[in-house]
Amino acid sequence: MIILQEKAYAKLNLTLDIVGKRDDGYHDLSMIMQAISLCDELELKLGTKEPWQVTCDWEHIPHGRKNLCYKAAKAYYEASGTDPDGLSIHITKRIPDQAGLGGGSADAAAVLRALNTYENNRFSMEELEKIGLSIGSDVPFCVGNRTCLATGRGEVMTPITPMPTCYYVLIKPPFSVSTPELFAKVEEAEAPVHPNQEKMIEALKEGDLRSIGGKMLNVFEFILLKEHKELYELENALENCGALGTSMTGSGPVMFGIFEHFDFAATASMSLMETGYQTFLATNYELDV
Ligand code: C5P
Repeated sequence: MIILQEKAYAKLNLTLDIVGKRDDGYHDLSMIMQAISLCDELELKLGTKEPWQVTCDWEHIPHGRKNLCYKAAKAYYEASGTDPDGLSIHITKRIPDQAGLGGGSADAAAVLRALNTYENNRFSMEELEKIGLSIGSDVPFCVGNRTCLATGRGEVMTPITPMPTCYYVLIKPPFSVSTPELFAKVEEAEAPVHPNQEKMIEALKEGDLRSIGGKMLNVFEFILLKEHKELYELENALENCGALGTSMTGSGPVMFGIFEHFDFAATASMSLMETGYQTFLATNYELDV
């Protein structure tokens, strides 16, 4: 039996804009994405000679066939035409689910990466991303974790300068959001402002955190702020703790703030814990290239 271990990193949307509706029912997006250090840990066992199984230490996460990791492994072996002769995957979860952090997509992408490494990089990065897209729109990004401007469904990725060294404080209000419902609501209500991707890419090039912070914008936030006024309070609390910018990630509801100094970020996360909401402290995920 072979045992593989792989980490699955969360993503943040520094910007997120919806630019149109597509014929396939999805939306064309334009978003700047950054991988962060908050991660799940996966253990894959190949050659178990048993029916495939997927388990997770969090009970409410779908186990077995319904888990995106199962779908990812199935998609991988269908594409490769190989067979592991029994497979089990265990996920040690840390990325909150239904949060906008791409946790499920990150896990699926980690499975693709682990299997592909074991199979001597049978597929190129682009091919692996393509397999990933059949599982979910965020999976292609999570395969490579490269800071990018993502367009199309999220799979057309242009690499850009990553975030400079900084710290993130993430806070998760206790409600979850239905992504398809949120897309429908955005169609009805035009966002009052849109992110300026060129200016954000320029600010990243300059490595100017304050300027980056001022340009973070997610069009989903307008909708959620209307329904959940407490999100304003969380943004204010993050700013009062010294955040250089705040925004929501993905379809939410996690709000995050960026900080230049670890001490400020650590103090902010301690103080926000008093809200009783889940709070996380993270930094950039650094690609090992
Ligand atoms: O691709 P994924 O399964 O993550 O998407 C979840 C839902 O989000 C889709 O069913 C769709 O309603 C919406 N979506 C979209 N346009 C995208 C990505 C997601 O409308 N580009």
